[in-house]
Amino acid sequence: MQQAERIRKLPPYLFARIEQKVAEAKEKGVDIISLGIGDPDQPSPSHVIEALQRAAEDSTNHQYPSSVGMLEFRKSVADFYKRRFNVDLDPKSEVVTLVGSKEGIANISYCYIDPGDINLVPDPGYPVYGIGTLLAGGEPYLMPLKEENGFLPDLTAIPEEVARKAKLMFINYPNNPTGATAELDFYRDVVAFAKKYDLIVCSDAAYSEVTFDGYVAPSFMEAEGAKDVGIEFFSLSKPFNMTGWRIAAAVGRADVVEALGRIKSNIDSGAFQAVQLAAKAGLDGSYDVIRKTQEVYSERMDVCVEGLRELGWNLEKPKGTFYIWVKVPKGYTSAEFAETVLEKAGVIITPGNGYGQYGEGYFRISLCIDKERIREALKRMKDGLGKIEL
Ligand SMILES: *Cc1c(COP(=O)(O)O)cnc(C)c1O
Repeated sequence: MQQAERIRKLPPYLFARIEQKVAEAKEKGVDIISLGIGDPDQPSPSHVIEALQRAAEDSTNHQYPSSVGMLEFRKSVADFYKRRFNVDLDPKSEVVTLVGSKEGIANISYCYIDPGDINLVPDPGYPVYGIGTLLAGGEPYLMPLKEENGFLPDLTAIPEEVARKAKLMFINYPNNPTGATAELDFYRDVVAFAKKYDLIVCSDAAYSEVTFDGYVAPSFMEAEGAKDVGIEFFSLSKPFNMTGWRIAAAVGRADVVEALGRIKSNIDSGAFQAVQLAAKAGLDGSYDVIRKTQEVYSERMDVCVEGLRELGWNLEKPKGTFYIWVKVPKGYTSAEFAETVLEKAGVIITPGNGYGQYGEGYFRISLCIDKERIREALKRMKDGLGKIEL
């Protein structure tokens, strides 16, 4: 039986070769340090875990939840947005609970894409924007994120006829994989662009709370008129070290939030209520919990940036995320360099082309391990690779 075209059209899995090499190395007993995966290693906050325990004991939480989420949780999201961004949201009509933001990012295309329609997708970028577009039968139009533009998309480079045809535009700052950040001015330009071409903006704010050195990331929702043109995906995964819990929200334009809720009601029936109540405890609790996480990543960034500079890279510390986006040395493709680092140093880095064609020539370092291991990884790279030629 042949699989459906939407599955066959999915791009090939680019990390397969690296994974095979890792498996081989591990079999030989080699100690591998992974700077690959972007999954926080710190535990979830204890008051969140306690709230889960209490809520799990309550049998009223054991039935199907509302597919759009508990009003209590959605209120907490709205309150958080008010405190943190001074953005007003109606929890009933402008907030929907998600089973992790990946779920919402994938499902939003089903709400707006008919076969052959276009979504504007950043490249390099989180793969789900493009994959969700393809699964819904649409075509991603790639917006290259270039270093000379601070890894912001150049809206003026999008052809008029593409912009007119496009349904959704995905943006993501602080950005995975580049670590770049955006300011309100950029969001204002995006609002104007979306109004001009009648498209819906989907801002992925997964790292809005993962910032350091005094930098505070704005929300797309802060830009005037943002609520008329789009939504934002806010996730507890990264700021609260809760990737395994699968809890997030989409906020903003009411008819878009409603459409997402309607799709979800037909697919996943919502998030476990005990998880929503635990997440509520996180959002309602002290911001110090997030601040502590920020400090951990900031220290790791310092160690890594300093180590990379010693190796010959001239780079600045990112203001947000736990990623560093680095140019590969002369004479290597991204994949070749990742393989070389694995072979010579026993260190996993992610080749940039895994995030799209414009990621070629870069690699991504993720700082989800403790700083001693990061130091060790850099030492091994120094010993194994010598001085880097850029
Ligand atoms: C981690 C991540 C997400 C998703 O997280 P969920 O756990 O599904 O909420 C979304 N976007 C980007 C860019 C990410 O890196």
